[in-house]
Amino acid sequence: MIAWGRNRNTALNGDADGDSALREMMDQIWSRVVEYNPKADREKLYAGYEFAKAAHEGQVRKSGEPFFTHALTVALVLTDLRLDVDTLIAAMVHDVVEDTEYSLQDIRSRFGDEVSNMVDGVTKISSIREVNKAARKAETYRKLVISIARDPRTVLIKLADRLHNMRTIEFLKPDRQQDISQETMDVYAPLAHRFGIAKIKWELEDLAFKVLQPERYFEIESGINQTRAERERLISEFKAPLVEHLETAGIECSIAGRPKHFYSIYRKMRDQEIGLDRVYDLLALRIIVADKTDCYHVLGILHSLYPPLADRIKDYVATPKPNMYQSIHSTVRVPGGKYIEVQIRTREMHERAELGIAAHWRYKEGGGTDKADLAGMVKWLRQIMAWQEDVSDPREFMETLKTDFFLEEVFVFSPGGDVFQLSAGSTPLDFAFRIHSEVGYCCVGAKVNGRIVSLRSELQNGDIVEILTTKTPSPSSNWLEIVKTSRAKHHIRRWLKASQFAGSMKLGREILERELRRAHLRAKIDNDLESIAQEMGYGDLDRMLAAVGRGDLAHAKVIARITPPPESRAEKVIAMGRDLAGNLLRRSSSGIRVAGVDNLMVTFARCCQPIPGDSIVGVVTRGRGVSVHRTGCSNLNDPNLGSERLIEVTWDVGPDQTFVVKLIILAADRKNLLLDISNVLNLTNTNIQSGDFAAEESLARVTLVVEVRNLNNLEKILKAVGKVRGVHKIERYQLGAGPR
Ligand code: MN
Repeated sequence: MIAWGRNRNTALNGDADGDSALREMMDQIWSRVVEYNPKADREKLYAGYEFAKAAHEGQVRKSGEPFFTHALTVALVLTDLRLDVDTLIAAMVHDVVEDTEYSLQDIRSRFGDEVSNMVDGVTKISSIREVNKAARKAETYRKLVISIARDPRTVLIKLADRLHNMRTIEFLKPDRQQDISQETMDVYAPLAHRFGIAKIKWELEDLAFKVLQPERYFEIESGINQTRAERERLISEFKAPLVEHLETAGIECSIAGRPKHFYSIYRKMRDQEIGLDRVYDLLALRIIVADKTDCYHVLGILHSLYPPLADRIKDYVATPKPNMYQSIHSTVRVPGGKYIEVQIRTREMHERAELGIAAHWRYKEGGGTDKADLAGMVKWLRQIMAWQEDVSDPREFMETLKTDFFLEEVFVFSPGGDVFQLSAGSTPLDFAFRIHSEVGYCCVGAKVNGRIVSLRSELQNGDIVEILTTKTPSPSSNWLEIVKTSRAKHHIRRWLKASQFAGSMKLGREILERELRRAHLRAKIDNDLESIAQEMGYGDLDRMLAAVGRGDLAHAKVIARITPPPESRAEKVIAMGRDLAGNLLRRSSSGIRVAGVDNLMVTFARCCQPIPGDSIVGVVTRGRGVSVHRTGCSNLNDPNLGSERLIEVTWDVGPDQTFVVKLIILAADRKNLLLDISNVLNLTNTNIQSGDFAAEESLARVTLVVEVRNLNNLEKILKAVGKVRGVHKIERYQLGAGPR
């Protein structure tokens, strides 16, 4: 049995001999360390002691003891686990960062990365970034869990720390006692359980139980004390024939009663709604044997003497629990109608059951620490952390802690016989996601023990689960209500988000493309908007596009950030009075003002033939001055045309100025068609510059180049020609558009 490091003799009571009492504790720690590790670095350990003692100088705990007593006790607890010097130093300095003026960097430079990483893991998040208290707490847990995944010794320090705080909780105010006990019950006891450290788990639970439900606690305590004599009689009657048979069989073993944990007794009474007299645990024995074969041998002898309860035989030796717990459990009936629960395990299994992950960090003669099985122990933890990385909501993280870490589990099988462990209450859909996210996404149904069941049905221990899938993934938000595990929830949420995200992104891109065109901006989404996304705090372009698509970000805000370069080439050209080929820009009136200057050399682009009334934009050319286009002209999309060559132009038309427009008319071919059209044009006072006529079967295609004054004038012409008999369609020519 391992004795816990709570030595009342070292309790300190004043400043006068505070220092020597602390020194006494430290010497006690050292004497234990040197016992299991004669080569331990004494100097380093004492340096940790001196540093932490000085750092906490003058600080006092609520109990009146020097504050440093706490850290020393934590280290003392850890010597019971036979831990290495670094962990003990980390334990001694674990509150230095939080409660003194020293920083993590100070610890790192003095004691190295391993120590400082462990200390960092148990230090609360202090940043004011998270104003919300609950969120900050969740972040602190998350940090702790990450640190544990990196160095599992961190959890030992945290648990020893909590253990000492729980042992001295009486000095706190009642409401603090309640809060801390609740947290111990919700987080730390389950954490101890997860890492298999039963010893700490039981003590934490009983200490918290006493605070949270004092009446029930004392009720159970007195009940147990009253029935002690009766129990001891039953046990000795039970043991006598068993010991005899085991001796005959030549099995070396030790049989011991099991310590009673009030909280586990209470839980059984509550969950099974039974009285104290019916809790099997009260009559419990543990048989510790030399090796694995003996476990089964003992089980055989036990069952030959006492009939077992069939549904209460559990073989965790063949199938260890995820926290590495191994043992055979069986409940047998003894004369008089009572039941006794027996656990059978080897010494090694026992040590691991009590100490869990700590067993792997124990100092071993000549070999330092044994990290062999550690990987398996923290694998699930790393897995959870891996798919928690992109969860930004602390509440979601807490959900994970509460379900995947702390709930009871069920074991189910795949049709191939593989065992899977899931939280109790899991459904076939959880199982599907447990196998693989793709199996989950494509799940359409499930068979349990060969029968089709609802996806909502609750899986039971030993179920054989087969998942039916299709090729098309079809998660829906309903699934979030079906699944129990946060792994499945996480994958479903991620799928839903991703599919919504892709849609929003596409829409956002379309909106911005349209708005860029509308604002005559040459900016290209993929080239020019990435930096704007960064500036606006979206991290990357896709996120910004999605925000626009969802409507969370106004497109105008993005467009407003795209400003043409202050000294564009076009403006320079205008200022110099020459175009890119050096042609003088000052000419006679053209009907256009360029950048506020009139009488510049301009040409009207043939591709789109702008006329007054059209919305226009200028392009500085080589040799044709400023070429004026309609803003919707497809030539403006030419990638060779940089936005720097675009310039603002406005109409400034003289009274008799006309502009050339090409019209395309489709009509049923007939006699006098052209004549009728030219008559109509005559009536509208329109000058025809040239024309072209082509007929194919009965369809005529007429192209006319005419002179118009403005858009208004043109529309009247289009209307008039459109009324000519046989005309199907009349349109203004534009490159890449128009009737064919
Ligand atoms: Mn502490």
